[in-house]
Amino acid sequence: MNDKELVEKIIELKKKKNAVILVHSYQRQEIHPVADFIGDSLALAREAAKTDADMIVFCGVDFMAESAKILSPKKKVILPSADAKCPMAMMANGDSLRKMKKKYPEAVVITYINSSAEVKAESDVVCTSANAVDIVEFYKEKKIIFTPDKHLGSYCKEVTGADIVLWDGYCYVHDEFSIGDIYIAKHEHPNCVLLVHPESPKDVLEIADFIGSTSQITRFVEENIGKLEDNEGFIIGTEVEIGNALQKKYPKERIYNLADHAVCTQMKRTTLDKVYNALLNEETEIFVDDDIRIKALKALDTMLELSEKFGSK
Ligand code: SF4
Repeated sequence: MNDKELVEKIIELKKKKNAVILVHSYQRQEIHPVADFIGDSLALAREAAKTDADMIVFCGVDFMAESAKILSPKKKVILPSADAKCPMAMMANGDSLRKMKKKYPEAVVITYINSSAEVKAESDVVCTSANAVDIVEFYKEKKIIFTPDKHLGSYCKEVTGADIVLWDGYCYVHDEFSIGDIYIAKHEHPNCVLLVHPESPKDVLEIADFIGSTSQITRFVEENIGKLEDNEGFIIGTEVEIGNALQKKYPKERIYNLADHAVCTQMKRTTLDKVYNALLNEETEIFVDDDIRIKALKALDTMLELSEKFGSK
């Protein structure tokens, strides 16, 4: 089957099975036409929870499908590519976090959403890249253990002055951004504003004109593209799919990816073929033990309550 036929078959099958298809914004563009929702992992899981679908097909990586299961325990959650596992999420586990908590018993544990259900369950509160600074600010009178992303944790430490014990985890896609990448991009596109994701290293963040989550970067471009002079544009410092999607929407000469190497290969494991087979065979189903799910949900709910209070997006 070609892509067009596959898209038609998938749409037909998802109706028949009362399924909802979630597509993370780092997924291949070919997957986008079958999506009911496209966006960040938590926003997708929350959207799916509001539907009356029987099945959620999560085009993303393992921890994202787990988050969907945490919020929708009665729905069948399917990950089309069983080997789509986030390396950063695997850099922390329940045992290693319990050890760290024993070392700092007084600390509040703040865990980035890009983590396993098991690690979320050991945490006091979850955060996203969009609200991490606000969440850390809220707890800054206490000692904080921040897992698993050391760059996001270090950025929060820098902005809030909080006493944070950093976990030694990172997202390889953003960790590989360098001053050299910026030098080349700025040289090739001299009048462009540099927007970067806070999972990037400190020296990269220090030179950025804007630091934000993928949705904040996208919103910044949407709100400011109309104000640009003729020779100005944006350099997008996150996974290339965000820049690619913006290039589809706006004139190409306005949007550049910071570096072509910023590709999450785990995210790219999902293909249209796999989505079709996942729906057809209802595989691979994701399960989260109930005791872990309930504790992880508590940490997620705490974040949602705080986010509402701060008005973080
Ligand atoms: S982009 Fe980074 S954090 Fe996201 S799934 Fe890939 S490795 Fe994990």
